[in-house]
Amino acid sequence: MSAAVPPAMDPAAAGEMAREAAAWCALHGLVVGDRADPRSATVPGVGLVHAPFSLLPAHLPESFWRQACDLAPIFNELVDRVSMDGNFLQDALSKTREVDDFTSRLLEIHRKMMEINKEENIRLGLHRSDYMLDSETSSLLQIELNTISASFPGLGSLVSDLHRTLIKQHGTLLGLEHKRVPANAANTQFAAALAQAWAEFNIDSAVIMMIVQPEERNMYDQYWLSTHLQDSYPFMFCLHVEAEGQVLPDGTLLVGGQKVAVVYYRAGYTPNDYPSEAEWSARLMMEQSSAVKCPSISYHLVGTKKIQQELAKPSVLERFLESKEEIDKVRKCFAGLWSLDDEEIIKTAVEKPELFVLKPQREGGGNNIYGLDLRETLVRLQKEGGDALAAYILMQRIFPKASLAYLVRGGVCHEGLAISELGIYGAYLRYKDKVVINEQCGYLMRTKVSSSDEGGVAAGFAVLDSLYLTGKVKTNEISERLFHPNYILCFVNQMLNMYFTRTVFLTCNQQKSFPVRN
Ligand code: ADP
Ligand code: MG
Repeated sequence: MSAAVPPAMDPAAAGEMAREAAAWCALHGLVVGDRADPRSATVPGVGLVHAPFSLLPAHLPESFWRQACDLAPIFNELVDRVSMDGNFLQDALSKTREVDDFTSRLLEIHRKMMEINKEENIRLGLHRSDYMLDSETSSLLQIELNTISASFPGLGSLVSDLHRTLIKQHGTLLGLEHKRVPANAANTQFAAALAQAWAEFNIDSAVIMMIVQPEERNMYDQYWLSTHLQDSYPFMFCLHVEAEGQVLPDGTLLVGGQKVAVVYYRAGYTPNDYPSEAEWSARLMMEQSSAVKCPSISYHLVGTKKIQQELAKPSVLERFLESKEEIDKVRKCFAGLWSLDDEEIIKTAVEKPELFVLKPQREGGGNNIYGLDLRETLVRLQKEGGDALAAYILMQRIFPKASLAYLVRGGVCHEGLAISELGIYGAYLRYKDKVVINEQCGYLMRTKVSSSDEGGVAAGFAVLDSLYLTGKVKTNEISERLFHPNYILCFVNQMLNMYFTRTVFLTCNQQKSFPVRN
């Protein structure tokens, strides 16, 4: 991400700090299941290893941080508006459905909901918008918008704590100030939004249900979220809705005899989560119920890569947003995006594949196609003819500037050139016409060696990171109070001119306290 370079360290000192940091991870629950232990994805508390992390936070000029934070409530609102236009979603994805079975099944559920005029009075979105800083143009460009299963609100918050702790201890030596690592309350804010959705549902005995995969090495990220809920709210994990769920005639969703207020999906975003028809029936059943779905089928579809590309077409944003200023802000972060019915762009991509990324309609990392594979795939699909190309979108490749980083994985610290991807979480809750929550809530930085194309942490490409704000942030004006996790920071930056130093004002909103159970 970085414009300013983090400090270089002597390898022995980096190794020593990595040991200290790994111990901190073990003591504070910054852990994942260890691949080496076959039970680590199914049995909690067995085979833990520290989550892969970067020893020091990635540097980011504060103006980009502010820009990304500013965008969060706009994207939250945009997702909601687009989700309400069922015909737009169906039309935009009509070609994709012909060639992509997974998208087709999602669209089928969506169509059924349109047919019965299903209304979602309470709509909850827990999103993460991901960005990279393009070094060529020095602009912050969106990689994708995740509207389902946005991961790492739990572990991401902890990495910020880890970095602040390390900098407090070693900062003088490194020339770093811990106050430049923004506080990160993604975890508690996501939990608060789930709790608020439960409160809006207004049935005390109904539970918040998190749907998870039967094998999940990232389970502790989910447990972190659940710990914030479990003490005060009826909460349960669920692996098999298909076996235990039913919808009553009045729309109530019952799972294992338990009324469900909120269904929070940390599964369901990949075809692997639907090994048989039973899982598709369960997804449909939940959609038909009165429970709040996070996400609803419409929100899920809005997060597809095809919709990202459609929204980037001229005049499409104008259909959903009124404010010209907001439209400009959103458009400014769009990279080049193309559908593959454009002969010219295919020709260019075949000639210069290194400037593009070919993306299928998949989530979870490891699916994108780059370089020579991209060229071969395009040539092959073109030869095959038909609509096969409609399963993909083409995206401008973003080239962040690489900088020195210390990536710690399995207790070993590797020094190398790395690039980072900034994710900004957003929470949105609506009850009919009333917007109850629309806020930016915390962030996730992921860093990977610059030679790696893909970026997922769970997929094994990247490590968890936080960020270090550079630029003229007047840290002496930033009180410790403002960095408390219960506060959100908003930077409002005055224009720089020749005679006045840049001044950064900080405003804060007290985080919504959790709704009280009656
Ligand atoms: P997924 O749904 O699998 O997470 P993404 O669109 O986020 O799909 O792509 C996965 C990873 O590939 C990203 O985390 C990023 O590291 C890399 N990537 C995606 N798009 C681009 C791009 N346009 N330029 C450079 N890298 C990209
Ligand atoms: Mg991604």
